[in-house]
Amino acid sequence: MHVWVPGPVIVGAGPSGLATAACLKARGVPSLVLDKDACVASSWRERTYERLRLHLPRGFCELPLAPPFPPGTSLYPTRDQFIAYLDAYARAFAVEPRLGARVRAAAYDAAIGFWRVTVDESSSGAGAGAMASTEYLSRWLVVATGENAEPAWPEDMEGMDSYRGAVMHTSSYKRGDEFAGKKVLVVGCGNSGVEVSLDLCNNGANTSIVVRDKLHVLPREILGISTFGLSVFLLNWLPIKCVDALLLFFSRLILGNIEKYGLRRPKIGPLQIKCSTGKTPVLDIGALRKIKNGEIKVVPAINQFTDNGVGFVDGSREDFDVVIFATGYKSNVPSWLKEDEFFSESNGFPRKAFPHSWRGKDGLYATGFTKRGLLGTSYDAAMIAADITHRWSNALAGPSAAAHDDDDGHHHHHQQR
Ligand SMILES: Cc1cc2nc3c(=O)[nH]c(=O)nc-3n(C[C@H](O)[C@H](O)[C@H](O)COP(=O)(O)OP(=O)(O)OC[C@H]3O[C@@H](n4cnc5c(N)ncnc54)[C@H](O)[C@@H]3O)c2cc1C
Repeated sequence: MHVWVPGPVIVGAGPSGLATAACLKARGVPSLVLDKDACVASSWRERTYERLRLHLPRGFCELPLAPPFPPGTSLYPTRDQFIAYLDAYARAFAVEPRLGARVRAAAYDAAIGFWRVTVDESSSGAGAGAMASTEYLSRWLVVATGENAEPAWPEDMEGMDSYRGAVMHTSSYKRGDEFAGKKVLVVGCGNSGVEVSLDLCNNGANTSIVVRDKLHVLPREILGISTFGLSVFLLNWLPIKCVDALLLFFSRLILGNIEKYGLRRPKIGPLQIKCSTGKTPVLDIGALRKIKNGEIKVVPAINQFTDNGVGFVDGSREDFDVVIFATGYKSNVPSWLKEDEFFSESNGFPRKAFPHSWRGKDGLYATGFTKRGLLGTSYDAAMIAADITHRWSNALAGPSAAAHDDDDGHHHHHQQR
């Protein structure tokens, strides 16, 4: 079946897809939002654990054109509060995504100037039931499938097949009580790994965390101000190196010398690393205290799995009931988008970094690939909505106006042939 879509097709009904649809709607442009799952914001509903809170204060997590979080929302909104916020947001802008619609392929058809978006849809919209394939045709395609579309696993770990314990990824970790009394190894020490370790420990699991690389741990708050908010403020006045030095000075005062516990800091400062690689420093919400008092044990990198546990690179061995990989996520764009000029085949991110990561060629856009969380999403959504609205109005004005519109959004008067 072929369906012609008047406005853009937006792939993904997470915060990024919803924000883009809302910004378009506010400018009078309709869109079709597709999501493979049976609900909006499924990354938050289905792939986060119960006690998760946003890492940043609520003021930095609002979506464009929306009222602030409702009264009573915690400074760091809980997972449930954020999901409720996203549901209300979709309702407020009457964004009604087609659910249970997985985009299998999308390619630009230069002959007709349209994107062909091939979608596997379940008849019930809930992921079950008979599957049908539909092709949507649209002038514009907005990729909003997220930086965290799929769990990333480490490559071939020796002996993992013979390991008899349980192996899982943090994306399927829900709550800690089922691990009470078990010996659990968490592999990876980004925010997910550190927070899951804390949750496990709070629930009576015997917890160890693999810390292989150097990392920055910062307190979530400094002098009663969120570390993120303080950084944003200071960056208005001071060069990034000075802000990093200040953050590290305060971290040392508040957290003490963390190197004693096997947590080595990189030479380059936390904000500089964030800017150049996108890697976020760990914002401590209590795990460090548990590491200091030995309730969470820091262990070196895994060398190989054994039947009942792992061998570490320092030659020691230990048994574990469960190994949880907190090894992050990756984009799934290369698996469905037939395009490799704007999006990189190797990592599924736009090749250009923020603030240029939102627009490609031929009506292709990306939202939520800035490595800057929801603030980046808001920026992308506003830019994309303005750009598409402009083209949409031109298209309505007729073919001659549309022909004067090139891919950089500038108006050129093409020479008459
Ligand atoms: C644990 C955690 C905590 C975070 N905390 C914060 C925070 O405090 N502040 C902040 O600013 N940011 C935070 N982030 C980062 C970011 O803001 C969130 O990950 C946010 O959900 C990203 O929104 P998104 O819409 O880009 O992606 P997602 O929420 O992942 O949405 C993508 C959607 O695309 C759908 N999809 C994927 N592939 C297909 C396909 N082929 N066909 C159809 N649909 C598809 C998925 O089902 C999903 O619904 C956090 C991230 C994580 C993982």
